[in-house]
Amino acid sequence: MLGGIPGMTGVHLIRSDQPALIDCGTQTSAHVVADAVSHAGIGADDLAWIVLTHVHLDHCGAAGDLARMFPRATVVVHPRGARHLADPSRLVAGTHDLFGRLSPAIGGLEPVAAERIVEAGDGHQVPLGAGRTLRAVWAPGHARHHMALLDEAEGIVFAGDAVGVQMGGGEIYPTIPPPEYDLDAALDSLDRIEALGATRLYVSHYGDVDDPGEAIDLGRRAQAAIGQAARASHAAAPGDAAAMSDAIDSAWPPADALRTPEALTRWMAFNWIDNNLLGLQGMVEREARDA
Ligand SMILES: [Zn+2]
Repeated sequence: MLGGIPGMTGVHLIRSDQPALIDCGTQTSAHVVADAVSHAGIGADDLAWIVLTHVHLDHCGAAGDLARMFPRATVVVHPRGARHLADPSRLVAGTHDLFGRLSPAIGGLEPVAAERIVEAGDGHQVPLGAGRTLRAVWAPGHARHHMALLDEAEGIVFAGDAVGVQMGGGEIYPTIPPPEYDLDAALDSLDRIEALGATRLYVSHYGDVDDPGEAIDLGRRAQAAIGQAARASHAAAPGDAAAMSDAIDSAWPPADALRTPEALTRWMAFNWIDNNLLGLQGMVEREARDA
């Protein structure tokens, strides 16, 4: 219910002896998630884990509120994300700068007490009870602190934003936000995710994909085409945003991602395409500085 629109950001609940939420949505939809968890028969003292793929506010904004509502839950996050949960001020300010007038629909993030945060190294296992585990698989690219999560018993992968976005009946299309997007890391992460051999794959925006292998391949080809087009455009005409936007669209036309009215509504609601352009500009400028 991001921005009041259903089907924008997925939150997944694993029902087990130690139930786990994967991601928790924005602060503005915390009550929707809390109601759904209790509707699933999980009491306030029963939720064991809130596991975050990364600390962008559409994934983690409700973490502080939910930690208060589910007082025994431990929040699991990449080590680079942990400090932003404990002190969200910079994260929230940066996000509100990016989204401007849309910020109230996203909300902020209540701090999470440091003693309730567990930092997940690559391969970290979250026990779900009865021998079942959720494995953290570091998958940087979308953000440096992004990770995918593997339900080892079921072979289900929760890919967060690493593979791309598939909303409203559209095709997979990359989500490339500022400030940390890194094409090379993103492509390496897709290889890692592919090697998990998922039987099912969920993308955060939104839900499961028909064929995990095909979705990963599509995400890989789209990110490579778009990222390389951005690099070439920057080399030819540095700082020309319109030229980069055209180059990206001709390298990988977004028509399939936007092919239904439902998809278009969701893509337009939070300036995703504009934010992709900002993410790519940030990447090519960083690469030029580091070269
Ligand atoms: Zn996201």
